[in-house]
Amino acid sequence: MPTQDQLLEQKIVEVKRELAELGEMRPGSLSTQYNVCGSPGCQCKATPPKKHGPYYQISYTRKGKHSSRFVKQEELTSVREQLDNFARMRKLVDRWIDLATKLSDLRLAKARR
Ligand SMILES: [Zn+2]
Repeated sequence: MPTQDQLLEQKIVEVKRELAELGEMRPGSLSTQYNVCGSPGCQCKATPPKKHGPYYQISYTRKGKHSSRFVKQEELTSVREQLDNFARMRKLVDRWIDLATKLSDLRLAKARR
């Protein structure tokens, strides 16, 4: 029967393994846009309007600085995967922090007994 320490250690090992196996990633969120252009008589100004697009854009904030960039249709699959991996990374790190805190609390309490 494993101790509580060992169970937590084992869970941390699993989190680290999953982190090591993560593929490419990038932060951000993907949005879809339809635009209206400047040429008169274009279909984007018809009733109902047939706007240009879709255009895909990722936006993200790093070190307090907001950035965004356009993504081509053929890049969507890999970019979506990168965004998913980033979210997964954040989740795993969060889990690691919780497990590590529990483990530390357990050991501190044990040492005081
Ligand atoms: Zn137009």
